[in-house]
Amino acid sequence: MDTIKREKLDSIGFKFSKAMGQNFLTDSNIPEKTVRLSNIDQSCGVLEIGPGIGALTLPLSAVAGKVVAVELDEKLLPILSDTFAHCENVEFVAGDILKLDVSQLLKDKFVDFRYCVCANLPYNITSPILTKLIDSDLFEQVTVMVQREVARRMCALPGTSDYSAFSVFINYHTEPTILFDVPPECFIPRPKVYSSVVLMRTRTEKRLSKADEGHFFRIVRAAFGQRRKTLVNALYAAFGSKMTKADIMDIIMFCGFDPRIRGETLGIEEFIKISKQFQLT
Ligand code: SAH
Repeated sequence: MDTIKREKLDSIGFKFSKAMGQNFLTDSNIPEKTVRLSNIDQSCGVLEIGPGIGALTLPLSAVAGKVVAVELDEKLLPILSDTFAHCENVEFVAGDILKLDVSQLLKDKFVDFRYCVCANLPYNITSPILTKLIDSDLFEQVTVMVQREVARRMCALPGTSDYSAFSVFINYHTEPTILFDVPPECFIPRPKVYSSVVLMRTRTEKRLSKADEGHFFRIVRAAFGQRRKTLVNALYAAFGSKMTKADIMDIIMFCGFDPRIRGETLGIEEFIKISKQFQLT
């Protein structure tokens, strides 16, 4: 971090907040590479979450049509406004991304732009943020820096130890790729974990209707709810009040699977096949 920024933080007596997941990037190469590999250009309206003191906002503003950055910590806003006073395509919004009406925000702030996300996320709320952004189905692509283990889970394939209901969720909606890893030395304060930058391109053709997705994800979450159990037992643990174990076993076998399979070996198509046979009323 350059001395001017450090001085600005010191001048307001800034203390890094763990609760707000504050680890600021100090190495300008990382945000520049993130922006370059995300292929962001003038046609993009970029939503950034948690700009901090603007390490990523700066290279974003150089290439994007417009950047809107939502920051929870109001103490950072004067520093941000000051640093970006001459950047006409950058706007800061004070608020909590989990409480904001994102659809309304995009409508208000971006006209005629392709919606994108690019952010170094507060790691303690990675899953709720990604669930909200991806569920909204508003973005063409989402680039985020997250904890490395979370990145591995987001991109995991069936049958691997990182594969989870979250992997199915991410892979159902997007095509995720890990762009690169980032060591703790690139941040102040240094986090205990490694980080990774993940690019997710939203799938334009969904395999289920919006109405069927809720049902599908209930089955997926149930299948992973009891990891060391067979799929039959995991689904029975979740839906036993509605179905007998024999009913569940019949469905699994009707779908062409061995009744002893485990949920974590199944891909999206296989889960879709099973969820279509499940009638939960
Ligand atoms: N992007 C910056 C900072 C990353 S640290 C950089 O790379 O240097 C995470 C940032 O998210 C912090 O600025 C923190 O204040 C902010 N933040 C934490 N919770 C938030 C929330 N719910 N909504 C918006 N911003 C949040």
